Amino acid sequence: MTAPTLILPDRSHAIASDLRATIGADKVKDDYSTLTAYAVDASIYRMTPKAVVLVETEEDIAATVRYAVQRSIPVTPRAAGTNLTGSAIGSGIILDISRMNRILELNREERWARIQPGIVLAELNKRLARDGLLFGPDPSSGEMCKLGGMLANNSSGPHTLRYGAVKDNVAALRVCLQSGEWLNAKAYGLDDPFCAELLKVHRPLHDLWSLLQDYAALISQKRPTVSKNSCGYNLFGLADGLARGCFDLPKLFVGSEGTLGLFSEATITLVEKPRATLTALIHFHRLEDVGDAVPKLLEFRPSALEVMDANTLNLIGRPKHGIPADAAATLLVELDADDAGIDLRAQAERMTEICRRYRLASDPVMAFDPEQRDQLWKARKALYPTLYRFDPKKKPINFVDDVVVPAERISELIRYLEEFFAGQRVPVAIFGHIGNGNAHIIPLLDVNNQDDFQKMVQGYHEIHQTVLGRFGGSICGEHGDGRVRAEYVKTMFGPELYNLFVRVKQSFDPSGVLNPGIKISDKPFTDHIDYERLSKSCATCAKCNAVCPVYDVFQSEDMSSRGWFEIVTDKNYSYLNSKRVVEACLNCKSCRTACPAGVDVSQLILDRRAEHPNKMAGLIFRFHAQTARFEQFLKLLARYQSIWDRPLMRRLIDRVTKPFMRGLAETARLSPQLVLPRLATRQLRDRYPELIPQGGPAARSPVAYFHGCAANYFDDGVGDAVIAVLRKHGAEPDLPPQRCSGTPIETYGHRALAKEGARVNLASMAGYDKVVTGCASCTLMLKDYPTLFAGEPEQAAAQALAKRVTHISEFVSQSPVKPAMASQQPTKCKVAYHSSCHLRAAGVTKEPRAILRGLPGVEYVEMPDADRCAGGAGTYLVKDFETSQRIVERKRQAIEQSGAEIVATSCPACMIQLRTGLQGTAEVKHVAQLLQEAYDAADR
Ligand SMILES: Cc1cc2nc3c(=O)[nH]c(=O)nc-3n(C[C@H](O)[C@H](O)[C@H](O)COP(=O)(O)OP(=O)(O)OC[C@H]3O[C@@H](n4cnc5c(N)ncnc54)[C@H](O)[C@@H]3O)c2cc1C
Ligand code: SF4
Ligand code: SF4
Repeated sequence: MTAPTLILPDRSHAIASDLRATIGADKVKDDYSTLTAYAVDASIYRMTPKAVVLVETEEDIAATVRYAVQRSIPVTPRAAGTNLTGSAIGSGIILDISRMNRILELNREERWARIQPGIVLAELNKRLARDGLLFGPDPSSGEMCKLGGMLANNSSGPHTLRYGAVKDNVAALRVCLQSGEWLNAKAYGLDDPFCAELLKVHRPLHDLWSLLQDYAALISQKRPTVSKNSCGYNLFGLADGLARGCFDLPKLFVGSEGTLGLFSEATITLVEKPRATLTALIHFHRLEDVGDAVPKLLEFRPSALEVMDANTLNLIGRPKHGIPADAAATLLVELDADDAGIDLRAQAERMTEICRRYRLASDPVMAFDPEQRDQLWKARKALYPTLYRFDPKKKPINFVDDVVVPAERISELIRYLEEFFAGQRVPVAIFGHIGNGNAHIIPLLDVNNQDDFQKMVQGYHEIHQTVLGRFGGSICGEHGDGRVRAEYVKTMFGPELYNLFVRVKQSFDPSGVLNPGIKISDKPFTDHIDYERLSKSCATCAKCNAVCPVYDVFQSEDMSSRGWFEIVTDKNYSYLNSKRVVEACLNCKSCRTACPAGVDVSQLILDRRAEHPNKMAGLIFRFHAQTARFEQFLKLLARYQSIWDRPLMRRLIDRVTKPFMRGLAETARLSPQLVLPRLATRQLRDRYPELIPQGGPAARSPVAYFHGCAANYFDDGVGDAVIAVLRKHGAEPDLPPQRCSGTPIETYGHRALAKEGARVNLASMAGYDKVVTGCASCTLMLKDYPTLFAGEPEQAAAQALAKRVTHISEFVSQSPVKPAMASQQPTKCKVAYHSSCHLRAAGVTKEPRAILRGLPGVEYVEMPDADRCAGGAGTYLVKDFETSQRIVERKRQAIEQSGAEIVATSCPACMIQLRTGLQGTAEVKHVAQLLQEAYDAADR
């Protein structure tokens, strides 16, 4: 069956205008940036749509579908776009369900929830964890993928061994059929009168029913014999239902990849969260031993059993992950304890004993602590995008990525694959869910090279054929057929059963508009390959979207980190066609911290901004660079702050400065709601003249304090606290001359000016052993000077400085001096930590928490989302106050949930943002201030 004739190009704008008129202007987009961002998912393909609809209600979905059917326009539902098969891109309308992301109902006792499809799996599980529950299926993309995509792909993951795939955990679905009508798809008893009624009302259900009856023998004969399958339509599940006496409709729709109907809701079944878990990492010396050990390990009834072959270990870098050089394969095994009677430590000992009978490359690692366990999983979960680091040209290509064989034959499969790819001289990573016999095979190829392209086509056919013929397996365990496997579905099941699939599709989607080209298609898998993108550095995995605060608020791919990579690296990019999105990034760097492929989207955006420096910001920063005059100006403002900082005056200032602020950004303003810190009439450098080196740059102390702008200009006690803490640790710091580290300047595109200040800083910080910082952004910027001066004469000095930059929390943690501490209050105070993005990007995450945990009188609470951006990001809260407040709302809720009375952090912008967002419900302090208080209390 082929895709229907597509819309004519001259109708493209009409589609968006029609939809705007029906659904609402704010929910429909068709500008260049949006269409570019939505042209990709995590697959190897590209298709540019004509319009994107961000649906918010069932009526939006039905109206879009009705319109698409009337005009024969393909409609592709989309959730997070993390599928690896090209199933969330299309040439017509993309219907993004991300904004429908609520939990509608949760029944703790009966363990089920009614949810909307836009919710991210990790977010759902975080919420469920509060009730001790969990949604079992766990694709490795769980931090970013959404329930709609999981349902439509019948996703599963490492823990399928215990919890099954999505199809095993869904009780009901609300499905919008091609007619625009809604179907409550659940398992109806065959004697239920409602079932008979449904068959009467919905013609496709009637057709399906007849096919199941007429071809029961064929369906039974063609049933895959392996433990996992997501290939084709799940007529087998429906047949099982009939045998149990029910018409099990969710079985048809789960795994149908948006080709039969669109989901607005699902009722999912939940499981109890295990009381304790053990994760074991075992490095085998010989691959054969893995095959032998697997059945023995399965006797422990593990919840997960994962393998990574030798090539995979080489490709991800053995030293980096502590993997022995002679390991031929690594197994990850997880055991759960559901009740107190299960002794995981005893099981760990038994497992170690069994494994030691084989030649191991090192002793098994047994982890019980959640943080340590997460660490063991980290490399495995980010495997695919990590492979992007391997070579600038050869990229991991998903085209035989998801085969299933009988579990006991997995090492035979691995041996076959290693030989096959060695014959082709192609590096390949083989890993996957060994307990289910499900292997992910990711060869690294340069598809722009004709030779490699041929190897891909050859591998596609040969490997799939071998999996089916020699192993009796399936070509698709969990990723879905999409575009990549559609060509092979017929070979997998044979023409007769395939014909049934075609009849099902035609019956549910007679006009062929529902995600055409997916699952049921005779187009070759090489159609629509995105050759240009496959030569770039981004894996399009969307891991960055999961942490991007802008995406969190807008839930639209054109307002996301991954989307921005696509836009700013697109050949048709221009500042004019993309200004809206290029100026929307906070430069929080969360994407850079999260990206397994080593891409820095924020840097690419800064590069683009540097091509168009903001004029107004240039005037401000040039004034700022005249340090003496600027400081006098601030002192003047400080003197009259009690007047201009009154609510009425602030409203007036907001109004009067609006035209001027517009020069910075359309959305920029000085909101009266912004809780500003007190400006200092005597700035930090005035208060500590004894610390300022006189007569030249020669260092007097081994330690310099780079206070940056905020600690100098604000009278908020942060700079004083850093100095007091340093003194307590025996360091009398110098305050050498310094200019703004450069973060805000670069944010507005003024790279030359940022470099000018950076050169001053490089010179004045040169003679110190340690350059201590208190501000998160200064810490990162100073550490990033080597990038700022890449390829320039200053680079060596920048590298030398970067090594010596030490955040105050690192300084304290490394200090041999342990000053006495005491508590100021008689009762314990709950303190949470907000981990500023720039400090995380600088790699400082553990030290501030360790300090807080060690403070007397403090009950440290790890708040949810501690590592998420709060939306301050330098001057963003001025540049776009409204969005910054939408971002901080999530943080406010997290703090409230933690019960913290004090939130500690390290960044002046975060402090302003948190104070503005919290409106006094919790106090906000710098980590150094809390330390100083503890030292002072001990002195009293
Ligand atoms: C790094 C990485 C690791 C991965 N690991 C795994 C893994 O371990 N296991 C696994 O199974 N998969 C894995 N995947 C693949 C992918 O993440 C999953 O299939 C995921 O469930 C897709 O969800 P999504 O929200 O991204 O859906 P999308 O990619 O947006 O869509 C997937 C399909 O669902 C359809 N769809 C979306 N919403 C709806 C709706 N409301 N109604 C009807 N159809 C809809 C789309 O049309 C499309 O066909 C991985 C991907 C990456 C990048
Ligand atoms: S930038 Fe990195 S995290 Fe984001 S989509 Fe690309 S590879 Fe994935
Ligand atoms: S820097 Fe922050 S806002 Fe910008 S793309 Fe990255 S995560 Fe998103």
